[in-house]
Amino acid sequence: MRAIRSLTTVAPGILFAEGPASNWTVFHGAGRVELVDCGYPADRLLVEESIRAVGLDLSALSRIIITHGHSDHLGAARLWSRRYGVGVLTAATELPNVRREITEQVTVGDLLPAALRRGTIPWTLAAIRAGGLSEVGIPSAQAIAGEALDLSTGHRLEVVPTPGHTTGHVCFFEPDAEALITGDAIVTGHALLDDDGELQQLPSFFHHDPDEAESSARRLSLCDASWVLPGHGPAVRLQRDS
Ligand SMILES: [Zn+2]
Repeated sequence: MRAIRSLTTVAPGILFAEGPASNWTVFHGAGRVELVDCGYPADRLLVEESIRAVGLDLSALSRIIITHGHSDHLGAARLWSRRYGVGVLTAATELPNVRREITEQVTVGDLLPAALRRGTIPWTLAAIRAGGLSEVGIPSAQAIAGEALDLSTGHRLEVVPTPGHTTGHVCFFEPDAEALITGDAIVTGHALLDDDGELQQLPSFFHHDPDEAESSARRLSLCDASWVLPGHGPAVRLQRDS
């Protein structure tokens, strides 16, 4: 049965959910909820559970902000935008992928060369079961205007371009909590990686442009984060010198 692996209160109004295979962050305040990413399509009820964990329900959800247009981050956003008019935002550079005007996503064929690697086949089957091949594009998605986004919950997200995993992949930095939502630019665990809890990159076959993904990840390590909230793996609290 699918279940949330862990919930971490990062700061007031910021709850990080480590899902069965990918993660999302719940921003809440003033009776409103905004999400960054929302897991796989099959995680729909778990995302609702995480919203109830902060004392609200799906009717409080006004927007979903997307790091990149992969099915394990877009989750049920398509359904909620159609059914409830929930807004979906992403970087202008990632918009074609989120709308599925183009598709930059690892395919079963991409995984064939890695099929002998331990865990690849079970991971692929689990990803398909979780809705990895279902229709997730959101034609009504809109671009984030400018370099930062003010949420209805009172938080602010600074947009950090991190191309490579996809052309328009972005991270988000919440300055009050010093929380860096890294999407798939940096992760802390994955079924196809060995070390859980370590800052690391996904295997290169997941990246649209592995070289660019590498340099984006290197640049990110310079960021002043106290928390890393990754797309895969647990939240990590960084030790700060001061
Ligand atoms: Zn991804």
